[in-house]
Amino acid sequence: MPGRCRAARVRLKLRRAPRVPKQSLRICLERGRESGLPWKGQEGRHRQDLRARLLQRGQFHFHRQPGHRILIDAGLNRKQILARLGAIGEDAQRLDGILITHEHSDHVNGLPVLTRTKGMQAPVFATRGTAEAIDWGGPEPEIAVFQAGAEFEIGDLRIQSFTIPHDAADPVGFTVTVGKTKLSIVTDLGYLPNSVKWHLRDSQFILLESNHCPEMLRVGPYPWQVKQRILSRKGHLSNDAASDYIADDEGLPEQTETLILGHLSETNNSPWHARLVAEQALQMCGKKPRLVVAEPRQQSEVFQL
Ligand SMILES: [Zn+2]
Ligand SMILES: [Zn+2]
Repeated sequence: MPGRCRAARVRLKLRRAPRVPKQSLRICLERGRESGLPWKGQEGRHRQDLRARLLQRGQFHFHRQPGHRILIDAGLNRKQILARLGAIGEDAQRLDGILITHEHSDHVNGLPVLTRTKGMQAPVFATRGTAEAIDWGGPEPEIAVFQAGAEFEIGDLRIQSFTIPHDAADPVGFTVTVGKTKLSIVTDLGYLPNSVKWHLRDSQFILLESNHCPEMLRVGPYPWQVKQRILSRKGHLSNDAASDYIADDEGLPEQTETLILGHLSETNNSPWHARLVAEQALQMCGKKPRLVVAEPRQQSEVFQL
């Protein structure tokens, strides 16, 4: 692997990425109107036309139009990823990078095959621990290794990585910033340390884990050891932990416009439970983001930031 870790070279190459042809821009704007998305004109942050979509419970697609495109995690199989990208007028060959949070199968299932797809040029961005823990099952792709906590750029997207407490080799969350717009993605963590809250400050858009209802988990069918793992400080955030963050003065930022609750367990949670607890927290603290609860198996709407 060492010979393949060429982060610096990749960054240089990405900065020189060709501009998106005008034809693509026209198609994208038309698609925005057809799908009923508000087109906010040329004022303020919306001028940048940032779009994001949750493809599955831990998998995210984000792009700036015209500009650069990234995929965060690849838990679905290759066919599903290509189909879900196709449904929003995108294709894998146009990706500028695939960012990986950690090596658990619900985040990398389709990655090895996806990177071997004909025409795929996007490098994989991962920490060394994560890259080494993935079973590539064949030739490794080009990997841009970064240290947890590093900041790097993919074209005009500024990416900040940060360590999260989870039982994986070297797991991270990400924020993506373009101009004044910041999007944060944090799932798969046992609790929310102050360091993670710090990275989420000033975010207009947050995807936050709301994995399980503790009561459903306790009485549910999982073996005792698995329950212990989920509840541990390196496991997953419960609905209650998410609501504590929402209500905390040092937690959910006042300026957050959209809060997506994601990575819901299909066995130990339901969108109804997650929403109920979060709405109670929002009422208590008076913050007013738009609250979206992501269905575990469905792709979300396209969010225009
Ligand atoms: Zn996960
Ligand atoms: Zn995980």
